[in-house]
Amino acid sequence: MKKLLAFTAIAAAATGVFAQDFPAGKTVTLVVPFTAGGPTDRVARDLAEAMQKTLGTTIVVDNTAGAGSSIGTTKVARAAPDGHTLLLNHIAMSTMPALYRKLPFNVENDFEYLGMVNEVPMTLIGKPGLPANNYKELTSWIEANKGKINLGNAGLGAASHLCGLLFQSALKTDMTAVPYKGTAPAIADLLGGQIDLLCDQTTNTTSQIEAKKVKAYAVTTSKRLTTPAVLKDLPTLAESGLKDFEVTIWHGVYAPKGTPAPVVKKLNEAIRAAMKDPGFIKRQEGLGAVITTDKRVEPAEHKKFVSAEIAKWGPIIKAAGVYAD
Ligand code: ASP
Repeated sequence: MKKLLAFTAIAAAATGVFAQDFPAGKTVTLVVPFTAGGPTDRVARDLAEAMQKTLGTTIVVDNTAGAGSSIGTTKVARAAPDGHTLLLNHIAMSTMPALYRKLPFNVENDFEYLGMVNEVPMTLIGKPGLPANNYKELTSWIEANKGKINLGNAGLGAASHLCGLLFQSALKTDMTAVPYKGTAPAIADLLGGQIDLLCDQTTNTTSQIEAKKVKAYAVTTSKRLTTPAVLKDLPTLAESGLKDFEVTIWHGVYAPKGTPAPVVKKLNEAIRAAMKDPGFIKRQEGLGAVITTDKRVEPAEHKKFVSAEIAKWGPIIKAAGVYAD
């Protein structure tokens, strides 16, 4: 017993020393649980660029995509809790607990919360040749094409999935869900006409709308957007007749449970520094993101917020009767 205590004390002291030195020139991996080139990836790459200035080490983005972000999230839950493997995920952290019957991790118990990063509105967009030119025409087109419409998503629990679910339930219609590992490939198929509609973050859709490559119908926020300029004239779904419709996507950063407190503190400081980095702000705001400047950038508030989101979305998802085994 004595031996064990002595060993534990030495191990704790060693962890403390390593924690103080973190990242000690060693690369940090930021896992993105969706495909490269999509909106979550976009946030992660901009954030990594800003955070590495503070941390003084390289941050590599690792796209471990699939199953609505649950694969990449599991990878981080099981990684060594040393601050060198992190996760950037979005609202899926609050929808997965209700959508997956067997989730290999517990969102509230298996992670250290490092801070929220931003909130991003979504847009409802359509394939290039779609005959509807505005939201009103879209609803008539949906009515006339019942049973034939393909709606893309990034897997069960993804933002696009949640938005699509709510949209169908508000319209009392069923569309065929086409899952991808992220919305970068979903947009590619939308452009090619393989799917008809997609709900996706403005960080992914703004440039496509600007180039008039896709049809844009509405934003999913409760108020119209004031920026980017190209999205200003889009109506909200709520004002278009879908009362109370609101989906805003938030992104946060996580480390495996047990990551030492000094490491959590350093990582949080790097996130807060990124929130003030002019390059990060410019790139993200240019795509419609709202940088987190309130207390949710603190780990404890970030965690409180995610728990509130789990409580908010759980009953809505359960009522929709959608789940994965
Ligand atoms: N926008 C995607 C979603 O629907 C994820 C992604 O590809 O970043 O959640």
